[in-house]
Amino acid sequence: MSAAEKPRWDVSDVDTWGPDRHELGATIPVAGNSVEFETGGWRSQVPVICTEKCTGCMLCYFYCPDASIIIEDGKAVGIDLEHCKGCGICARECPAKAISMKAEEKE
Ligand code: SF4
Ligand code: SF4
Repeated sequence: MSAAEKPRWDVSDVDTWGPDRHELGATIPVAGNSVEFETGGWRSQVPVICTEKCTGCMLCYFYCPDASIIIEDGKAVGIDLEHCKGCGICARECPAKAISMKAEEKE
């Protein structure tokens, strides 16, 4: 079977592929453009921060893949809900257990 006849999902010979065989995939035309994409609509769970428990270690800030942790005066105080997609990484990584995930309430 020639390369042209193979189904697109068949990657059994991927080691022999040249650049022309790879899908283009996502394109990031400029650095820092993720702020333009409001991924908050994907969320089914929302993180809730207990500011009393927060020790200000900043781990949630560094782990959040969407840069959605809002820090003020060295502590986590809120979430950028336009970009937080509810992955739960911040809650998982917080050593103080100051973040919990709750079911998202959609209107
Ligand atoms: S990981 Fe937890 S304790 Fe650390 S800054 Fe974030 S909320 Fe606060
Ligand atoms: S749930 Fe995920 S995207 Fe949202 S603030 Fe936490 S780490 Fe960031």
